[in-house]
Formats: sequence, structure tokens, C-alpha cells
Amino acid sequence: MTKRKKLSQGQLRRVRSNQQKRLKKEDNHQWLDEQLGSQQEGTIISRFGQHADVEANDGEIFRCNMRRSIDSLVTGDEVVWRAGNEEQSGIRGVIEARHERRTVLTRPDFYDGIKAIASNIDQVVIVSAVLPEFSTNIVDRYLVAVEDVGLEPVILLNKIDLLDPEQQKIIHTQLENYRHLGYKIIYASTKQEQGLQELAQHLVNKTSIFVGQSGVGKSSLVNSLLPEQSIDTKEVSEQSGLGQHTTTTARLYHLNCGGRLIDSPGVREFQLWHLEKERVAWGFIEFRQWLNQCRFRDCKHQGDPGCAIQEAIESGKIKQQRFDSYLRLLETMENNKPPRTIPGNKFNQ
Ligand code: GDP
Ligand code: ZN
Repeated sequence: MTKRKKLSQGQLRRVRSNQQKRLKKEDNHQWLDEQLGSQQEGTIISRFGQHADVEANDGEIFRCNMRRSIDSLVTGDEVVWRAGNEEQSGIRGVIEARHERRTVLTRPDFYDGIKAIASNIDQVVIVSAVLPEFSTNIVDRYLVAVEDVGLEPVILLNKIDLLDPEQQKIIHTQLENYRHLGYKIIYASTKQEQGLQELAQHLVNKTSIFVGQSGVGKSSLVNSLLPEQSIDTKEVSEQSGLGQHTTTTARLYHLNCGGRLIDSPGVREFQLWHLEKERVAWGFIEFRQWLNQCRFRDCKHQGDPGCAIQEAIESGKIKQQRFDSYLRLLETMENNKPPRTIPGNKFNQ
């Protein structure tokens, strides 16, 4: 074995970028124009490095190369592609262009800024459960992220079979507050098959994803909707409350009820630290109408004179609990920011 010197981050990035370039070259030389059929529409089901699985209009799936001109391609993208006259080492066509995305789900990347992870999603089902832990702050964190990208949230409480009467009362009261704000709430149990039909009804004619902490039952829900696919579920360790996942790339599934589902651990996680403070406040939908009403434009809403948010709290129009949750979010975001010293990081301030 050769002894390797540890590479600096800069060197690592160059190596990676050269590898990418080489892969692109190797992948694209095979197809000549006359070897390809006419252009047709398709949907990206899944993306693997320089390849992607395209679903044709008739539902058949073709593994394709991508033209170098396509800057980014993710699950959910609508594309223009051409089938090859014959298969070449498992590749059956070329993706030539990507249509404008209706919506895009992103994640902040330490080095590359904001990266797309899936597109053309309509709805996000925020899953929570008493096990590993139920907290409205977690629900709020996801709500802010979903509001930020302009998608429709649905809040689903899973594992209702585990609730004792006391917990049931507390959590119901909390979730009814969200219903009052205009959010859809579903109570479900994959174990006891409750709420699953209601869930399916909410998914019809839409492209949805499930998000939520590890262990709340997202895979179990996906499995209940896609019995023939069998997505891995993992036992939750009661101590750590953490499950583990094996799949990495996002994949689009068609549901029997008529909707579509995009699933992968990557799209299940939202990060918030790239959001501006103002944007976090905007993500609390009942704050919106008050946000421009404070006396000072840079109002922190924490005892500043003439604060419209504080007045709304006092008159009961904003719940104290939601405001406290907002402050907690700002706090955790501050703690989770990447170190400022990373060179080239677009989130350095
Ligand atoms: P994920 O990490 O969110 O995908 O969660 P999983 O679907 O892997 O589920 C985590 C654990 O919760 C597994 O042990 C499941 O069997 C269990 N689980 C899922 N749904 C329910 C439910 O409705 N009730 C109960 N009691 N357990 C559930
Ligand atoms: Zn204010």
C-alpha cells in the first residue's frame, strides 16, 4: 500500500472536480446524432452521478446520459430526452434539456452553496410522533423550511397508538392550534392502520414528500402507501431515538391513489441556517401581517418599543408558544452555522 499524504480541502476539491470532468467526457462520447430517436418529454425518477433514470410518457424507464449543457438534474425534473436506437452498456438514451422547475427543494452545502435535491414537489408531509419525541418546536422548524420554499405543508402525527390519554389531550390541543392557523392535520398509526386512507386522499394528484426526524415512521408510511416496493424501516433505539438509513438517492414513486411520492433520506432533512432571520419570522404564517407594523424596521420583537408582534401576542392573536418557538429556532440556527473560517463558503458573513 502506498502511503498517502493528507490532502487539503482545496486539493480535495480540485481532485473531485477533475474526476467529475473525466466522468462527463467518458459518458458523452458514445452517442451520435443519427443513433438517437426524436425528442420526447420525460420525468427524472432518479439520478446517479452522470446518469439518470427517465420515465417516458408511457411509463417505461430509460437509464440515460446527460448532455453537458445541463447544469443540474434532480429527481422530479421534467426533461426533453431522446432514446438511442440501441442500448450502449446499459444506457438507453440522452437527456438534452431540463424544463424550468415549478418548485425546488434545496439544501445548503458547505462548499457549493445551495444545492437542489428534488424538484416539482407540491406538498410536504411533516411527520412527527411521540417516539422518539414530539415537540412543536420541531414541527415549527419544518414548517418554516416548507413555507420558505413555497410548498404546501401537511402535519401528520404518527404512532397515535402509543399515546396515553394524558399525552393525547396535550398533543391534540397543540395540533388543533395548527389547524386553527389553516394547516391540515392528520392523526395516523401505521401499526393500527389508522389515518392512512385520509393520508392517501391528501396525496391524490400531487407530488409529495415526507419529512421528519429519524424514527417517526416515514419509511413505514411510505411502505403502507407502496406495499410492493418495500422501503427499509429500521428499529428505533429507544435510548438514542435514532434510526439509520441505507438508501441515498432520491426516487420518484407512483402511488396507487394517483399521486406521486419522492423519497430519500436527503429530501427528508431540512436545514435552516441559511435563512435570514426575517425569513424565519415570515415562516410563522400568523406573524406575517404584523411584521411590517413594528415601529422600528430592525425590531427584534423582544421588548422593543412599538412592537406589533408583542402587541399581537398580548391580544392573543399570536400564541406565546409559537413566539417562544421562533426564538428557539433563531438560537439553534445561530449554534448550527458553519464556522466562518471555511474558505469560499457562501454562507460566511
Ligand atoms: P423513519 O426513520 O421515519 O423512516 O421511521 P421508520 O418507518 O423506520 O419507523 C421507525 C420505527 O417506528 C419502526 O420500529 C417502526 O416499526 C415504528 N413505527 C412506525 N409506525 C408506527 C406506528 O404507527 N406505531 C408504532 N407503535 N410504531 C411505529
Ligand atoms: Zn417587533
